[in-house]
Amino acid sequence: MSGETVRDLVVAGSGVAGLSAAVYAARADLDPLVLEGDEPGGQLTLTTDVENFLGFPEGVGGMELVQRGKDQAREFGAEFRHGRIVAADLDGGQPFALELADGETLRTRALVVATGASARWVGAENEDELMGHGLSTCATCDGAFHRGDDVLVVGGGDSAMEEALFLAKFADSVTVVHRREELRASEIMADRARDHDAVDFRWNTELDAIHGSQETGVTDATLVCHPDGHPREKAANGVDVETETVDVGGVFYAVGHTPNTGFLDGTGVERDDDGYLHTERDENGRPTARTAVDGVFAAGDVADPRYRQAITSAGTGSMAALDAETYLESLDREGSEQQATEAPMA
Ligand SMILES: Cc1cc2nc3c(=O)[nH]c(=O)nc-3n(C[C@H](O)[C@H](O)[C@H](O)COP(=O)(O)OP(=O)(O)OC[C@H]3O[C@@H](n4cnc5c(N)ncnc54)[C@H](O)[C@@H]3O)c2cc1C
Repeated sequence: MSGETVRDLVVAGSGVAGLSAAVYAARADLDPLVLEGDEPGGQLTLTTDVENFLGFPEGVGGMELVQRGKDQAREFGAEFRHGRIVAADLDGGQPFALELADGETLRTRALVVATGASARWVGAENEDELMGHGLSTCATCDGAFHRGDDVLVVGGGDSAMEEALFLAKFADSVTVVHRREELRASEIMADRARDHDAVDFRWNTELDAIHGSQETGVTDATLVCHPDGHPREKAANGVDVETETVDVGGVFYAVGHTPNTGFLDGTGVERDDDGYLHTERDENGRPTARTAVDGVFAAGDVADPRYRQAITSAGTGSMAALDAETYLESLDREGSEQQATEAPMA
């Protein structure tokens, strides 16, 4: 691996978590380098209005929020560059080596992983255009924009049931679209959704296309159905399926998330079965942003299968930077003590 300069801190990811870590680290004079990945600004750039981030009573555009965060981090000296980590050598001692997609290798004494968890999309027609304009992957974030609407939820697991029940507080009707006849959700969550008057189910059904525009939002959607389930796969194989267009004001995907942690394969950083990073507790049992590898810290959705909010990501971003600062100080202390021990007696 090549590369002479050793950074104090690299922050992988420029979503809210990475930006918050960068602000804290830059203010602590750690000169952080932020790698932006393929999605500069992260998931919030996919949405128009953010109404639940503290300090913006009128709401704020997702793009504007992350741009402000970036400006703030730059103001204190954080450096940003394009680059996606494809592999990491974290177990060969200091400094760590990070291999980027363009072949370059960066060396750093500490790493904050804030690479997010990408919501899975279902591949329906027009989803690229309408994501953030009536199509969403987050009911907590966007449910309140759908008061009085009829909405669809795509999915059949616990999170789809949770999203459906949450949306039922605002929407006139919530239809859960599921490609099989049985839910993957736990019995208790499935019963709660089934028992709710505003929640309905469409079995053996899949979303094929979403209609509308960025100006109007979602107006309607095309569903396909086959009595044996998996209708889109069947249609692709030439089997006849029923097609129906329904009027809806919103569509919510709840088919899971994939944490962006593949580049940590083969390292000692612990992940759960779904790939989310595991963070450690301190000696008093309190939460930290530390991972199983000393000097590697986790922030934001990449370590959070539960809340996945901008504000929680910003919070854990600050935790990761503060923990990184403490770690770097301890490395410096160890270095000076070693030098003192090795220095010849006068
Ligand atoms: C449509 C939509 C609407 C939402 N609305 C709201 C809302 O109203 N309120 C709210 O609180 N939350 C909302 N959320 C959730 C919120 O966006 C996330 O909780 C938040 O963005 C998570 O921040 P993060 O920094 O952890 O990750 P992300 O925002 O996902 O950012 C991840 C970053 O990591 C980078 N990256 C990925 N892999 C690599 C790699 N290998 N190397 C280097 N960099 C990498 C990416 O390019 C990106 O910059 C919404 C989400 C969506 C999708």
